[in-house]
Amino acid sequence: MNKRELLEKASLAYDEDQVLELTSAIDIASKAHKGQKRKSGEPYISHPIAVTSTLIDWDMDIDSVLAGILHDTVEDTDMTLDFIETNFGKDVAFLVDGVTKISQARAGMQDLTEYLPQTKDNLSKLLIAVGQDVRVVIIKLADRLHNLQTLQHMPAEKQTKIARESIEVFAPMADRLGMGRVRMQIEELAFSYLDPREFRRLSTLLKKRLGKSTRKLGVVREEVAKALGEQKIHFEINGRVKSIYSLHRKLEKVGGNIDDIYDLMALRIIVDTKEDCYRVLGILHTLYQPMIARIKDYIAVPKPNGYQSLHTTVLTPSEQIVEFQIRTEEMHEFAERGLAASFHYHEQKKSKEYTRKKSSSVLPTHMQWMTQLQEIAGRLRSGEEIPADQLNIDLFGDRIFVYSPRGDIYNLPEGALPLDFAYLVHSDIGKHAYGFRVNGAIHSFDKPLENGNVVEVITRKTSSPRKAWLEQVTTTHARTKLRAQLRQLGLIESISSAAAIIRDKASRKKDKK
Ligand code: MN
Repeated sequence: MNKRELLEKASLAYDEDQVLELTSAIDIASKAHKGQKRKSGEPYISHPIAVTSTLIDWDMDIDSVLAGILHDTVEDTDMTLDFIETNFGKDVAFLVDGVTKISQARAGMQDLTEYLPQTKDNLSKLLIAVGQDVRVVIIKLADRLHNLQTLQHMPAEKQTKIARESIEVFAPMADRLGMGRVRMQIEELAFSYLDPREFRRLSTLLKKRLGKSTRKLGVVREEVAKALGEQKIHFEINGRVKSIYSLHRKLEKVGGNIDDIYDLMALRIIVDTKEDCYRVLGILHTLYQPMIARIKDYIAVPKPNGYQSLHTTVLTPSEQIVEFQIRTEEMHEFAERGLAASFHYHEQKKSKEYTRKKSSSVLPTHMQWMTQLQEIAGRLRSGEEIPADQLNIDLFGDRIFVYSPRGDIYNLPEGALPLDFAYLVHSDIGKHAYGFRVNGAIHSFDKPLENGNVVEVITRKTSSPRKAWLEQVTTTHARTKLRAQLRQLGLIESISSAAAIIRDKASRKKDKK
């Protein structure tokens, strides 16, 4: 892609003034990067152009697109943030600054798995960037994607480092934002560098298997299409093939036998309405024998990142096991593009509210974690010490949904304990927690909650926090609230009083002199 092609593409998506602004941004960035080359030997500007092209594909707003073309200028050239702010405005400068900060944080991260405990500062920079504006992360994902696509030009050692970091940090990040397609692209590319032999072996294995099942699936597909047609349902049906990396993960889980994996290829049915999704499920279950344990209603209970679909696995009369995924166009769009979809031209107002933390109450449940991140980011900014492993759980761990008896939904990291829930609902509820009922049954303090649990906190006014509770919370949020309460009760020493004692001693020494 070159400058002319990029502008052509932009002119289809943005208005004339915006394209003019982009033209001048490209010129300014080209000048700034003049003489610099990518490892491939291409002029450096080819990279920001590719990144910007991706951001346009993702329908990002014009500020993100401008920041995309300028994203490496502050770090790698003489360009200043002031200059960007004067020429393109505060928002673009803010985004470029955020991307630069993430790069700097990353540079200090070294090998993530080995050095994780030492990366707190860098990780916190990342958090602060996310907490303020999620577009920073989306631009960074576009940047990372292109770097992975051109990774063959890097020395082997760098390849491994970048690939590992991509799979451990950036892919989960994309997943958290609901950007399923990007997550998959990142994982496939990164895995092909991390374990090239296994990647090749699985690709070959998958191809062989698919050859056989595609023919058989063709029959099923026709049967289903006919049945849906008879019921006058408007639909689209496609095959979706499992990605190599997710096949690898699943094989690790089931012990390595590909015969134990039923969704190498799934049929995806896209319909107009939610009601149609359930009608299609009914029709499939009339045609074929469903495997009861594998029916999943992610429409009524979405995945924590917002993913929605009905999944079912059936057994055909010819003894073939077939997985179906049923969803509306809208759900499909979200599954593929996630939060990036909300930056679309028509929805920019709404997404501004997401990013600018003006009203966290408008955040859908699956995005609550962003509010929690903002909270953590705020505490880091104020100089509070939060252990890196804690940040890691809050940021990159899997999430679960649990419900209050009233049906309110709460989003917690996997492995969260009942007290984590209590403190998330309200610090007073945590404070007076006396016991828990989960799905109606008494539940102990040290037993983790599971996705979909209905959690009731039994409180007593006379009940108060105990020091042992510190072992019975896992989230930063609950720990912080609990510590504050324990300090107030005099059960643990407060930092300030410890400091006061030291100061006191020091001053007495002075007095003696
Ligand atoms: Mn870059």
